[in-house]
Amino acid sequence: MSTPPSATVVHWAGNKPFPGTSNATAPVTNPATGHVTGRVALASVSDARAVIDTAATAFPTWRDTSLSKRTTILFRFRELLNERKSELAAIITAEHGKVLSDALGEISRGQEVVEFACGIAHLIKGGHTENASTNVDVHSVCQPLGPVAIISPFNFPAMVPMWFFPIAIAAGNTVVLKPSEKDPTASIWLAELWKEAGLPDGVFNVLQGDKAAVDALLTDPAIKAVSFVGSTPIAQYVYATGTATGKRVQALGGAKNHAIILPDADLDLAADAMVNAGFGSAGERCMAISVAVAVGDIADTLVDKIAERARSIVTGDGTRSSDMGPLVTAAHRAKVASYVDAGEAAGATIVLDGRGVQADGDADGFWLGPTLFDHVTPDMSIYTDEIFGPVLAVVRVASYDEALELINTNPFGNGTAIFTNDGGAARRFQNEVEVGMVGINVPIPVPMAYYSFGGWKASLFGDTHAHGTEGIHFFTRTKAITTRWLDPSHGGLNLGFPQNA
Ligand code: NAD
Repeated sequence: MSTPPSATVVHWAGNKPFPGTSNATAPVTNPATGHVTGRVALASVSDARAVIDTAATAFPTWRDTSLSKRTTILFRFRELLNERKSELAAIITAEHGKVLSDALGEISRGQEVVEFACGIAHLIKGGHTENASTNVDVHSVCQPLGPVAIISPFNFPAMVPMWFFPIAIAAGNTVVLKPSEKDPTASIWLAELWKEAGLPDGVFNVLQGDKAAVDALLTDPAIKAVSFVGSTPIAQYVYATGTATGKRVQALGGAKNHAIILPDADLDLAADAMVNAGFGSAGERCMAISVAVAVGDIADTLVDKIAERARSIVTGDGTRSSDMGPLVTAAHRAKVASYVDAGEAAGATIVLDGRGVQADGDADGFWLGPTLFDHVTPDMSIYTDEIFGPVLAVVRVASYDEALELINTNPFGNGTAIFTNDGGAARRFQNEVEVGMVGINVPIPVPMAYYSFGGWKASLFGDTHAHGTEGIHFFTRTKAITTRWLDPSHGGLNLGFPQNA
């Protein structure tokens, strides 16, 4: 990459690093060692203004750039990303902590959206009606919105921004990405890749920072739309603030994802799925399964099978052959551990305790091993709260109806799954459950790029989900054009209201 490594990760504007004028910075830490590896700039309002201005200045030319030129750049970006994804995976592992194979997995899921956006010429085709009225034609076009902001969480520093920016850019918008201050370097790597792919100056920009940067994006009139992903309280704030200033906002929030295991399920496959979806990425996934709902008399067997598998997980440095990495910060590790303390104090049975895990890594890493609770009840904080760590709660219920009731009364509605061999039960579940993404014998049902990603209830604020056709709608607005080319025989005045003829 062209830019030399820098101790402070700065903003990116006009296809080059932009240091800004603020002296405020935050530490960037390697969670597997606990060492501070650099700093990230925290934008002031004037830094934000400068980056937004860059995006606004680039917009008129980019919106008029032909679809053919835009897609040529997108295809090049896709090829470069595919060739160099191991560089990006190493950056993600060093700042987030997830194991390298998982980092590569998130890049592949982001790459899918780039591939989807390469079809933009087809995706933004309008409609045309000839002779809607005599000699009157009507057609519609999809036009870009202007500069748009993407505000992303720490847990997917590459994939979540890629849910949005390939489509935003392909549709003719310019972008300001505000990544998480916990793992900011991936954003700059992606910016450099866009530059190498030939994206003109100012189309893709990065603003580093915290709340001040977010607030500047939410209130600046030049920003026309905001795609936010993060925790529910911040998503609610972003939605309320952004829409109050007239912006289009989609704000994806937190989750508490349940999986129902029916008595007829293959319990070995279900136990594999609970371990993969509960402890993968140390539970720091918005689609992680954090509650396994065991229906009927299978609970003892299921818990034994989950525990047996979870005991074999190697927690350690993501650059080694570990299965599960550390938590992202010391503070987050302490918060997750405090939930484990609370679950134990509330009387849940702790089957597997990750608090004292012997990790394959530096003693100062933010380690917490897989933790399994049984006999969890809905009044316990380990059930009610999003923990965002490797903590799986087993709730025992007597019937499918009781399991469904648990899910449908939960305030979150991001993802869910059912494990069964009964097609009728699965069909009933997909119809009755009030959750945005449903897996049938699939634990983390993240839809492919050509479908849309998003939850219901407190897991999403706004009307539109990410990527797929809803992503295309979010980043465009339609215009309907009614046309009549008069010939000389159509003269004369008529002050009546136009009617079809
Ligand atoms: P977070 O809400 O702390 O931060 C998200 C973004 O908001 C970051 O860019 C951060 O800098 C910014 N931010 C933080 N505090 C802010 C404030 N007070 N005002 C304005 N902006 C602020 O989330 P996180 O810890 O980075 O990520 C984990 C959360 O994200 C979890 O709740 C997880 O479920 C959620 N998430 C949801 C999805 C989804 O698709 N629904 C996907 C990934 C993550």
